[in-house]
Amino acid sequence: MRPADSRGVAAAILAATSRGYAILPRGGGLSYTAGYTPPTGNAITLDLGGLNRILTIAADDLYVTAQAGVTWKQLHEALAPLALRLPFFGTFSGAGATIGGGLSHGALFFGSARYGSAAENALGLEVALADGTLLRTGLGALARPAKPVLRTFGPDLTGLLTHDGGAFGVKTEATLRVIPTPAHTDYLSFVFADLPAAAAALSAIAREDLAEDIYILDAASVAAATRVSPADMARSLRSVLRAAGGPLQAARALASFVRGGTRPVPDEGWTVHVVAAGRSARAVADDIAIARRLVAKLGGTEIAPIVPRVARADLFAGLNGVLDRDGRRWAALNAKVAHSDARTVIDGFDRLLAPHAGAMARHGVTVTRLCSALGSLAFSFECVFHWPDAWLPLHREAPDPAWLAGLTEPPANPAARELVAALRAATVAFFRDIGAASNQIGRTYPYVDALAPATATLLRQLKTQLDPKGLMNPGVLGL
Ligand SMILES: Cc1cc2nc3c(=O)[nH]c(=O)nc-3n(C[C@H](O)[C@H](O)[C@H](O)COP(=O)(O)OP(=O)(O)OC[C@H]3O[C@@H](n4cnc5c(N)ncnc54)[C@H](O)[C@@H]3O)c2cc1C
Repeated sequence: MRPADSRGVAAAILAATSRGYAILPRGGGLSYTAGYTPPTGNAITLDLGGLNRILTIAADDLYVTAQAGVTWKQLHEALAPLALRLPFFGTFSGAGATIGGGLSHGALFFGSARYGSAAENALGLEVALADGTLLRTGLGALARPAKPVLRTFGPDLTGLLTHDGGAFGVKTEATLRVIPTPAHTDYLSFVFADLPAAAAALSAIAREDLAEDIYILDAASVAAATRVSPADMARSLRSVLRAAGGPLQAARALASFVRGGTRPVPDEGWTVHVVAAGRSARAVADDIAIARRLVAKLGGTEIAPIVPRVARADLFAGLNGVLDRDGRRWAALNAKVAHSDARTVIDGFDRLLAPHAGAMARHGVTVTRLCSALGSLAFSFECVFHWPDAWLPLHREAPDPAWLAGLTEPPANPAARELVAALRAATVAFFRDIGAASNQIGRTYPYVDALAPATATLLRQLKTQLDPKGLMNPGVLGL
């Protein structure tokens, strides 16, 4: 079913649930934790892609209200001409990933080191429940609705209905806070010999709230991302120059490209990338100078900041990333911990993988790691499993056809797939053992079963209250 507005969603849900069918909400379909996978044959997928209208941009009151199927790219492009931006403003998948999916799933990346995840920037929601009721949260919940400039007036119902994977209802509209677009942006990149040292730098910069994006890439990820043709490099350079914001900034960006050449990062090591932004060049320069001093103390070597420049200039460029550049598939897992526990997750994951090195080599399974800052308090560790295997429909539909034509689909590889499934299951258990949180919970991470009994009981009661027949995305969050 593909309704086009809230009432259409509510009617579709009622039509399905009154006949005993489960509802599976699907936004862009770009998650990989079985969040919209049918747990039974008696289920109907609700495609939210038809809810693609931005309803209100309140420039004076700094909020935007949009339908749940609007993509991060669409919203970013609508706000940019008004010199406005979302604080967290999208995922790498933002050309296809939706605000409804992101709010249900803990989406994070662009802007997250300062502003956290999608849900933290929500002011209110409209949600269609299992019986077709439309429920509003935030100030929109008042009997005489007010302008939605506060999230809490009483208990935080918006918080209750985010990161729920659609277990409590289908988001039909969301109101998100906006900010004036920062007038100045600057970039830094460093290389470290090992991940713990790079992680210490990331944590040091995050704790001081110096940047909007801070992330670590391993050499294999950077090599894959930067093994580009001269034409791609020229396109990236054009995007960077366009995004530079003035002749002086463009000259600096060009100088950075020239310094970096076509190999913007060394072949070895762990690179830390930083995007600082603020209202004045002076403030940003101060943040950059402090970050530089912190990293120098920790032994990092500065390199040309081409990776973060290109990532910001080529925002939401497309969805080729659903596959690796060599045509392999990938799936990620993530753990959020306190900065002081970064070593626990980094070293523990290495220990978990070590006994499987032989099997991984035999089956062509490799693992890359991506770490990032989520606000100033949380360290995010993401491990990405890559393996050669036949493609799924999404792998054929999402990428640019011309790009896809240059790849060769690997044959079906059940042995590698099973090994990845076993390694992912062991990793999920390890994350649970160390008390890590994860976004994109879906049906992959244990959630309700990992909670203390009183909290688990409350959530189960809430589920029963909102979805008495258990037909709203059953199984997600373990509910
Ligand atoms: C190339 C690539 C890059 C990625 N980069 C990032 C990244 O930078 N950061 C990040 O966090 N993730 C990233 N992801 C993962 C994924 O894109 C995100 O989780 C994204 O938020 C999913 O949004 P979606 O609209 O595709 O949601 P879907 O995958 O369609 O759904 C996600 C979950 O939310 C539920 N849902 C969807 N819409 C609604 C709704 N309206 N109401 C209620 N429930 C709903 C679904 O049932 C499911 O449980 C990436 C994935 C890919 C393939």
